[in-house]
Amino acid sequence: MSGSWEAVIGLEVHAQLLTRTKLFCACATSFGAPPNTHVCPTCLGLPGALPVLNGEAVRMAVRTALSLGCTIKESSRFARKNYFYPDLPKGYQISQFDEPFSEGGYVEFEVEEAAGPGSDAPSTTRRARLTRIHMEEDAGKNLHDLAGGSVVDLNRAGTPLVEIVGEPDLRTPAEAAGYLRALRDVLVFLGVNDGNLEEGSFRCDANVSIRPAGSSTLGTRVELKNINSFRFVEKALAGEIARQRDVLESGGRIVQETRGWDEKTSSTFSLRSKETAQDYRYFPEPDLPPLHLDDAFVATLRATLPETPRAKRERFVSELALSPYAAQVLTQHPRVAAFFEEAATLSLDAVAVANFIQGEVLRDVTTSGVEADFPVSPGQVVEILKLVSQGKISGKQAKEVYAKAKGTTASPAALVADLGMAQVSDPAAIEAACAKVIADNAKQAEQYRSGKTGVFGFFVGQVMKATKGSANPQLVNETLKRLLGA
Ligand code: ADP
Ligand code: MG
Ligand code: ZN
Repeated sequence: MSGSWEAVIGLEVHAQLLTRTKLFCACATSFGAPPNTHVCPTCLGLPGALPVLNGEAVRMAVRTALSLGCTIKESSRFARKNYFYPDLPKGYQISQFDEPFSEGGYVEFEVEEAAGPGSDAPSTTRRARLTRIHMEEDAGKNLHDLAGGSVVDLNRAGTPLVEIVGEPDLRTPAEAAGYLRALRDVLVFLGVNDGNLEEGSFRCDANVSIRPAGSSTLGTRVELKNINSFRFVEKALAGEIARQRDVLESGGRIVQETRGWDEKTSSTFSLRSKETAQDYRYFPEPDLPPLHLDDAFVATLRATLPETPRAKRERFVSELALSPYAAQVLTQHPRVAAFFEEAATLSLDAVAVANFIQGEVLRDVTTSGVEADFPVSPGQVVEILKLVSQGKISGKQAKEVYAKAKGTTASPAALVADLGMAQVSDPAAIEAACAKVIADNAKQAEQYRSGKTGVFGFFVGQVMKATKGSANPQLVNETLKRLLGA
């Protein structure tokens, strides 16, 4: 962006809460079921059906708000947001409007300006304020171009969402991406959302305007809808910022509107003029009483909040002596962090555990939402590392043992025995192997003893070969020197 303009960005995030059932009925929320099988009179909006608020959704929403430093309102209300769309059978969405259950709060995030996430480049920590978090129900899903037409799947209709509205505190596309990543991590570590942008369970609308650098008034904003990857958020924002600058620099005006992002042309396109609150004819939901969240209820939830991913990362560095990069990698997923912590607790060497998980185990971990599949147990990792620290196997053999242990519950010590690795540091076995190699190679032994020490490497190589690489190299060296009488 040229020096004369500054971008202003504010994000609205919709995150599906991982409740078993919908926000106002007992239908299951599971993803991927056959279309229109998780529906009932309430989420279909049939006459006379009444909504009943899901307590689990309320607990998850409050935990989300508390984790983000929001103030919880003792009293809040649901409202009807009226609009027509085929995926909205009631003709209105139940949402919170002028009385949300929480206000304020902030997201703390890293910005890796040039190098991208996962790099060792220094990153800066920033904070962006939140306006509010409220609860609402999701709409169904329109599926287009199926057999030449469009169909509607209402399984998602009524799924609980939190909408997390950010203040226009962000200034660059990289900041927006950092904010989103941090926000997603908080929700996923809390276990309230699966963080899946592709499947739409974590969705972002990005609002962006530009203004002359140094100005303190806000420009007219454009809303970019439904961006389903972190990379697209950055690209779409950069594209939209460039478009706005071109419009303004050629004397035009920015129209307040909603735009989409076209990945093929790398540009945004107009979807519709921006709707305003008046368009929705909001009014209080007559079928639901006001929501009361008393202090004791909130205090209980606050007392049981888990550590945030950011706090975990800091603790891994300060208490367990991990590098910031290792701490980052091991907190990429809550189950990975838990796996590492369990292994680190069982071991005396958290850094060795971290290295081994990063170097070997992570390659074989598959994650799906908040779940993850591990090829081995934390106990197996710790046992492998213990065999290394006791000198029973080498670092290279540790990898082989791991490869054999994968997908089994086998004890690494037993595997080491099966693989014939156990004699590695047994002095008697090594001495026998060395003595045999010397006896078999009398000529080279003679050369060595007459001062041609260059043949020493030959002996080491022969012993390693004879022991299939399993001998402790240091012990082999010492033993050979002693036996060759140097
Ligand atoms: P709506 O639901 O109509 O989009 P909200 O007020 O709920 O409106 O959300 C507005 C979002 O737009 C917030 O995230 C806010 O930070 C952001 N925003 C508001 N004004 C601007 C602006 N001038 N430039 C960029 N972002 C803005
Ligand atoms: Mg909006
Ligand atoms: Zn239902």
